[in-house]
Amino acid sequence: MVLTKDQQVLQQGARRFARERLLPDYQKREREAVLERELVAEMGRLGLLGMDLPEEVGGMGADAVTTGLVVEELAYGDFNVSALPVGISLNGAILVRHAQPEVVSEWVPRLTRGDAVPAICLTEPRGGSDASNLQLRARRDQDHYVINGEKASISFADCADVFVVFARTGTPEEGAKGVSGFVIPATAQGISRTRYDDVGSATIGRGSVFFDDVRVPASHRLGDEGRGFTQVMQGFDYSRALIALQCCGSAQASLDETWAYAKDREAFGRPIGQFQGVSFPLAEGESQIAAVRQLCYHALSLRDAGLPHTAEAAMVKWMGPKAAFDVIHQCLLTFGHYGWSKELPHQQRMRDVMGLEIGDGTAGIMKLIVARERIGRAAIQY
Ligand SMILES: Cc1cc2nc3c(=O)[nH]c(=O)nc-3n(C[C@H](O)[C@H](O)[C@H](O)COP(=O)(O)OP(=O)(O)OC[C@H]3O[C@@H](n4cnc5c(N)ncnc54)[C@H](O)[C@@H]3O)c2cc1C
Repeated sequence: MVLTKDQQVLQQGARRFARERLLPDYQKREREAVLERELVAEMGRLGLLGMDLPEEVGGMGADAVTTGLVVEELAYGDFNVSALPVGISLNGAILVRHAQPEVVSEWVPRLTRGDAVPAICLTEPRGGSDASNLQLRARRDQDHYVINGEKASISFADCADVFVVFARTGTPEEGAKGVSGFVIPATAQGISRTRYDDVGSATIGRGSVFFDDVRVPASHRLGDEGRGFTQVMQGFDYSRALIALQCCGSAQASLDETWAYAKDREAFGRPIGQFQGVSFPLAEGESQIAAVRQLCYHALSLRDAGLPHTAEAAMVKWMGPKAAFDVIHQCLLTFGHYGWSKELPHQQRMRDVMGLEIGDGTAGIMKLIVARERIGRAAIQY
């Protein structure tokens, strides 16, 4: 892929920020399990949040490929921090397309400035794969809705300022057509939240959000009643390609560190990089990550051209986290006993990328989508 001059400038800026500001504290952020708000504000000032959103709401109107380049660079420094621009691009686009103008102007500039963190609330305790079968209830009460129920497994649950929530306004029999989206400030009365003790990605504070008679003005509904599910699914084709690029960035950081180590570390009187048993697995890793990366940018360029990219996005969403996990594992092993120590970042990167083998749709569901794109709904068993 040949980059334009503008893309190169933005990529270089993000690379510098990721390596100087994010990478040194990647493990400290995980230990402290906090997303520093000063860091979020700094990213906002640098134009790293919601760069694909329109200029009127604080974005740069960047295309999807450019946004992907920046997300990949940020993930090289800190996989978890790079989840924030992905979340802002996903939620910001849903708001810009479907929210009332006053809701857009209240929230989206705050997101792009780094003054507010959003969370998308789709999954429920009973399951996330069968996403349209959700039960969180939104009952109409004159010019308000009253929301009751629990959303589970929500990234940024513990620190979000605003929730984009999908709830059932119709009957269960209506399935996806009975689902509507809402914008709900985290300060709304009746909201409480918990935080999980996760295997990785502690920085993004995954948890549950509880809604207990939360009153939401009807003006905070996203688009028409019953259209919520379609709205969120359109966004996922985008976020899936960005997530796979997060995985590429993280794996590339481990690969670069491991190549450097293999040049220096000696065994049997020579650098271990001279043994093909060491260099070939790393060469395979480079090849796998390069292949996934190219498919990600292909999916994003299709999006920029207004062409379908659902299958390509689903392909990279299952391949990206899996390839990254395997490659980082190989890097950890190449460091020998040092790799097994928590002082080195490979174990953390492995745990972090593994989360996205589940988050935003499992590999099984991604393969179902690829099959559906090829042979239609005959691919789906209910
Ligand atoms: C790190 C992380 C971040 C997340 N962030 C968010 C977030 O911000 N917002 C949000 O709403 N959710 C979020 N999630 C939740 C995530 O989207 C769900 O966990 C995911 O969709 C799977 O749902 P589930 O865990 O309920 O698994 P289930 O739906 O119970 O599935 C269990 C297993 O069965 C398999 N399975 C189910 N149905 C099929 C089928 N038809 N064919 C083949 N296999 C199938 C699945 O692949 C999975 O392996 C996050 C999860 C993680 C781990």
